[in-house]
Amino acid sequence: MNLIIPYELLGRITVIALILFLVLMITGLILAYIVFKKKRIFFPHFLLFLIDSFYMPSKKIVSLFNGNEKMIDIVGVELRNILLEEKFRSIPYKDRIVLLPQCLRSLDCPIKFSSIEGAQCAKCGRCKVVKIVKRAEDLGYKGTYIAPGGGFVKRILKKIKPSGVLGIGCAYEVNWGMLEVSSKGIPCQGVIILRDGCVETDLDMDSVFERMEMVDNGG
Ligand code: SF4
Repeated sequence: MNLIIPYELLGRITVIALILFLVLMITGLILAYIVFKKKRIFFPHFLLFLIDSFYMPSKKIVSLFNGNEKMIDIVGVELRNILLEEKFRSIPYKDRIVLLPQCLRSLDCPIKFSSIEGAQCAKCGRCKVVKIVKRAEDLGYKGTYIAPGGGFVKRILKKIKPSGVLGIGCAYEVNWGMLEVSSKGIPCQGVIILRDGCVETDLDMDSVFERMEMVDNGG
């Protein structure tokens, strides 16, 4: 029996799939641009799905047009913050942790890192980390951890088992960290640092405190 391969049909399906891929990706890029520039958000669930599904090609297209590649991650963080806020508010302070990037530390920071536990601020006062640690202690947070690098989020979730996470870092780290944390069913919020870089970065403390102090609207 001769097997007839329907090349024409396969060709048509491939073209339709390609067109669909492009239409969805471009729709995602347009909506993401509106969020980024105008701070107006439409269809947040759908847009987040598009951003996550077309992450790499979208970034490539943005950089091809000399756009801000960080736009995709920044919008991802904004959407996750909106979609997860209500659940995060319902988590008591005692069950939440804060994750901080090590780039916030002063170059003269005296602390040492453990690959399992990250690091605990020694409160020397040379950088803003100490203010976040103190506020977390005052509120009764479960802990504040300075992340030494990749893989830390997974390890700390497994060890500490928080019910809510506030993550701070560059747009890329926060976006992917929030994806990882929320995929485990843990509500989270993110704050992006103001100045990127590997050392002595900076962040807006009001934004951090505002998210740390989020509680149920009922009180
Ligand atoms: S305040 Fe904490 S994190 Fe910042 S430099 Fe001092 S010990 Fe390091």
